[in-house]
Amino acid sequence: MTYRAPVQEMAFALRHVAGLDAVLAKTVIEGGAEIAPEDAVAILEEAGRFANNVLAPLNRAGDRHGTLFSDGAVTTPPGWREAYRAFVAGGWNGVRAAPEQGGQGLPHLIAAACTELWNGANLAFGIGPLLTAGGIEALAAHGSDALKTGYLHKIVSGEWTATMNLTEPQAGSDLSTLRTRAEPSGDGRYRITGSKIYISYGEHDLTDNICHLVLARLKDAPAGTRGISLFLVPKVLPDGSRNDLRCSGVEHKLGIHASPTCSMAFGDGGGAIGWLIGEENRGLACMFTMMNAARLNVGLQGVGVAEAATQKALDYARERRQGRAPGAPEPVSAIAAHADVQRMLLTMKAYTSAARGLCYLTAQALDAAQGPDGKTAHDRASLLTPVAKAFSTDIANEVAALGLQVHGGMGFVEETGAAQFLRDARILAIYEGTNGIQAIDLVTRKLPLNGGATVGAQIAAIRRVAEALLKDGHPGFGHAAPRLREGISSLDRATGFLLKALGSNRPQDALPGATPYLRLFGLVQGAACLARAGLASSAALKAGETDPAHAARIALARFFAENLLPAASGLEQAILTGGSFADDPAFALAG
Ligand SMILES: Cc1cc2nc3c(=O)[nH]c(=O)nc-3n(C[C@H](O)[C@H](O)[C@H](O)COP(=O)(O)OP(=O)(O)OC[C@H]3O[C@@H](n4cnc5c(N)ncnc54)[C@H](O)[C@@H]3O)c2cc1C
Repeated sequence: MTYRAPVQEMAFALRHVAGLDAVLAKTVIEGGAEIAPEDAVAILEEAGRFANNVLAPLNRAGDRHGTLFSDGAVTTPPGWREAYRAFVAGGWNGVRAAPEQGGQGLPHLIAAACTELWNGANLAFGIGPLLTAGGIEALAAHGSDALKTGYLHKIVSGEWTATMNLTEPQAGSDLSTLRTRAEPSGDGRYRITGSKIYISYGEHDLTDNICHLVLARLKDAPAGTRGISLFLVPKVLPDGSRNDLRCSGVEHKLGIHASPTCSMAFGDGGGAIGWLIGEENRGLACMFTMMNAARLNVGLQGVGVAEAATQKALDYARERRQGRAPGAPEPVSAIAAHADVQRMLLTMKAYTSAARGLCYLTAQALDAAQGPDGKTAHDRASLLTPVAKAFSTDIANEVAALGLQVHGGMGFVEETGAAQFLRDARILAIYEGTNGIQAIDLVTRKLPLNGGATVGAQIAAIRRVAEALLKDGHPGFGHAAPRLREGISSLDRATGFLLKALGSNRPQDALPGATPYLRLFGLVQGAACLARAGLASSAALKAGETDPAHAARIALARFFAENLLPAASGLEQAILTGGSFADDPAFALAG
C-alpha cells in the first residue's frame, strides 16, 4: 500500500492545535474574498489527491532509477517531468506567494500542510518546490523591482525553478569561509566565479531556466559573514544565451536518489552574470529569509516521511502473522496484536502527530507575525523554527527506523520500501543547517530573545494546556496531566539553567546541553500539541459526537505523555549536570 494523505488528521491539527480558523478570519485573498475553514479543508483534499495519485506512485521508481548525469545535463527519472508539469498547472507552486506575484496568497498554515503532503508522498520530488518556495520568499522580500518583474512571476508560476547555492567544500555549517567571488561589471551587474557543492536541483530537465541564488564575496568585503552578498544568477540570460555556469557532477547518495545533488561551477569562461539581491555585504540576512522558510519546511518533510513510514508499518503489522498474543482467540496473531509491536506503532504515530502539531504551530506564528501582534508572533516563530526543524527530522529518522523494525527482515531488504524511508529521512537532520546547529541556534540566539520573555511566554502557554488537561477529567487521559506538568518543570529548570549560563557569559556551560535541550523542548511542546488535540476531541465527545477518531486522539495524547515524555527528566539531568565532558580533559577522545 502506498501513501494515503491523512487529510482528516491534518485538518484537525490545523484547526484545533494551530488555530486555523483564527488565521483564516484574518486572511483575505485576491478580490477581497475570505477563506472559510471548509474551503481550507477542500484545498487540502485536492492537494491530498495530487499527492496520492501523482507523486506517491513515482516515489519507489524514482529511488530505483535515480538521476542521470551526462555532459553537464541532468535527466530526472521517468514521470518526473510530467508530474512537475501537473504540479505547476495545478497552481501548487504558488500557494504562499502574493497574488500580485501570481500566487494564491494562502496562509503559511495551509502552505505548511501542502508541503507535508508533497513530501510525505515523495521526498525527492518535494525538495525541489521547497527550495523554489524559499527563493520566492527571498526575492519577494529583498529583490529589486526589476528582478521581481524579470524573474519572480516566472518562478512563482513554476515556469522556472530556484535553487539555494550556499555550500562550498570548506564552507558548510560555517559560511564565513566561503570563497565564491563577485565583481561589479560596471553595468549594474556582477561577474560570479567559484564552485558550490551539494546544490539540490542545481541542474535538471524540468524547466528551461534555473534561477540560482548564490552567496558570494565582493572584493574588499569585510571578512566573515559580514562580507557576504546574495546574487541571482540564472542559467539562461534574458537574451536567451547560456550564462557562464555549469553542473560539474551529481552525487551518489544514501537516499533521495531522484533529487539531483549537484556540484556547480560558476565563471569558467570569465564570470557568470548575476544581479545583486538586497544590499552588498548583507546577503546572509537575505539568505536567512530563505533559510528560515526552508527550515520549517524541512521539518515538514520530516513529518511527511514519518507519516508515510507509519502508514506502511501499520499496514504490514496488520497483515503479517507471527506468534500468539496473550489471550488472542486465534492460534497465530497479526504482529500488530503484540504489545511490543503496538509500542513501536504507537510511538511512530505519537511522534509524527507531535511533530505535525509543532510545525503547524510554527506556521501559525508566521501567519500571526503579519498581524497586529506582529513582533511577539515573529519572535515566537523564531523560537519555534529550530525546534520544528530538528525535532521533526530527528523523530523522522527514529520513526523510519522503527518502521523498518516492524517489518523484521522484510524491512532490511529493499522490496517493501520501508528501508527507503530510512535512507531518505537521513538527510533531513543534515541539510538546512544540521540539527546540532539548530540546537545551538535555539540555545544561544532564541532563548535570550527579549531577555527570556519569548521562551517564558511559550512555557506559560504550555502550562495552560496542562491546567486544561487537569480540569477536563476525561478518564482516557490517564496520567497525561501530571506527566505534562513534570515535563514543564524540567523544561522550566533547564531553561533557567541555560539562560543563567549565557547571562554569566559561560557558553561552555550551555553548549554541551544544546541538543538535549532541543529534544526536551520538542517533547514538552509536542506533548502539549497532542493534549490540545485530545482536549478538542474530549469536548467533541461531550457534545455528543461519536467519531472514533476522538477517542484515538485522547489515547495518543496519553501514550505520548506516559511513555515518551518521561524522557524529559533524564534530558534535564543531562543539561544540568552532564556538560563536564566539554571542558574536562579526562573526556578527551584523542591526543
Ligand atoms: C543531499 C544534500 C542536499 C543539499 N542541498 C543543499 C542545497 O540545495 N544548497 C546548499 O547550499 N547546500 C546544500 N546541502 C549542504 C548542507 O546544507 C550541508 O551539508 C550542511 O549544512 C552541513 O555542512 P557540512 O556538510 O559542511 O558539514 P560540517 O559543517 O562539516 O559539519 C560536520 C559536523 O560538525 C558539526 N558542526 C559543525 N560546526 C559546528 C559548530 N560550530 N558547533 C557544533 N557542531 C558543529 C555539524 O553539526 C556536523 O555534525 C546539501 C547537502 C546534501 C548532502
